[in-house]
Amino acid sequence: MADYCKMWESLGINLEAHDQLLGSIPPVYQQIFLDQENRPQAMSYFDMVVMEIHGLRIQELQEHKAKGGTVVGSFCVYVPEEIVLAAGGLNVGLCAGAEIGFDEAEKILPRNLCPLIKSAFGFKMSRVCPYFESCNLIVGENTCDGKKKAWEIMNEEVVPVYTMDIPQVKSEKGKELWLDEVKKFKNKMEEISGKEIEADKLNKSIKLVNDKRRALQRLSNLRKNKPSPISGRDALIIEEIAFYDDNPRFIEKVNVLCDELEERIRKNESAQKTASSPRVMISGCPMVVPNWKLPFIVESSGASLVCEESCTGQRYFEDLVVEDNGSVGAQLEAIADRYLKIDCSCFTPNQERIDNIVRLAKEFEIDGVIYHVLQFCDPYAVEYRRVEKALEKEGIPVLKIETDYGQEDSGQIKTRVEAFVEMIS
Ligand code: SF4
Ligand code: SF4
Repeated sequence: MADYCKMWESLGINLEAHDQLLGSIPPVYQQIFLDQENRPQAMSYFDMVVMEIHGLRIQELQEHKAKGGTVVGSFCVYVPEEIVLAAGGLNVGLCAGAEIGFDEAEKILPRNLCPLIKSAFGFKMSRVCPYFESCNLIVGENTCDGKKKAWEIMNEEVVPVYTMDIPQVKSEKGKELWLDEVKKFKNKMEEISGKEIEADKLNKSIKLVNDKRRALQRLSNLRKNKPSPISGRDALIIEEIAFYDDNPRFIEKVNVLCDELEERIRKNESAQKTASSPRVMISGCPMVVPNWKLPFIVESSGASLVCEESCTGQRYFEDLVVEDNGSVGAQLEAIADRYLKIDCSCFTPNQERIDNIVRLAKEFEIDGVIYHVLQFCDPYAVEYRRVEKALEKEGIPVLKIETDYGQEDSGQIKTRVEAFVEMIS
């Protein structure tokens, strides 16, 4: 990696803590990703992106800002990136998946809070995330209780946060509220960027984000093959990179990978040790970089991870915005419609998600579901009961794993996952 110290310094990064964070990634990445056998060659691009996680892309963001562009950071797949792009902005995901910064975060947040929220605070408060430090606007959202309360504190004590109000119920009133929020967000983006969002720009942005989601759908569909031509870990890292990479380049690289995977399918080449490895879906809370603990355990226990029912997975790319919808107003409505299909467990009632889990389990010919709950995440933990019942009815085994970002429980999780994999084999 080139020397980016000057750039990090100019962003106010705490270099010592940052070195510690960056230094921890290569050995873990080597073990979890690079040591896999028979990886597709096209994964080399995504490996490079991870190795350059705080380098090349951050440099690109600075170049974009130097040309008058904005950078918008968000924590939820509900924030419409089409609107950010139409205002000449770039969107980056700020969810974090490491314990670095927890000490700082726990000075102002309770210890017993979801690690995803604590990690986002910790990264900002310890000044170790150049994505955070590059943002002109931070967008929070009223989804779960932890987030909606945490953004108040972040806004008051850490950094200004613009918060979108996400309805809790998908009723007519909920839809009206959400459309109004989407319109307000468009106004906010125009204010921040100083650029008017015009119909043709919005249409182009919608097409671009749709292309990104189409590429991810293509990848996901290839994993339906038995055996899957790519490991779950490799697919997951691509789903994670989707939140911050340059869109046109990312789309091209995912499609190049898919070409290679189609060739593998023709040659009957698999990413699995044996074609009969049980097929597993991970369902639940997002898994963000570098929280790769559970997928690694699942695959090193002999299962093939073929689907993620999560925001770092299907929930991010399943639905598209209607294209060529005319005026800005009509396009905003199409955006609002698409985003309201996201079946986060924060909604009530949420039968949609239960039905989608069963549908995905059938489509991907899943032998067992691993239900992933981040510690202290009430929405996903409580919704488990309904998921379990629906899967039981279909005869699909499910194992619930509640965990955090620490490694202390890895041995215990591995024992449970191994027993589960043996049971579904
Ligand atoms: S799980 Fe819910 S709150 Fe979290 S990113 Fe997804 S939609 Fe947003
Ligand atoms: S994982 Fe759960 S508690 Fe954490 S931010 Fe997402 S919805 Fe909220």
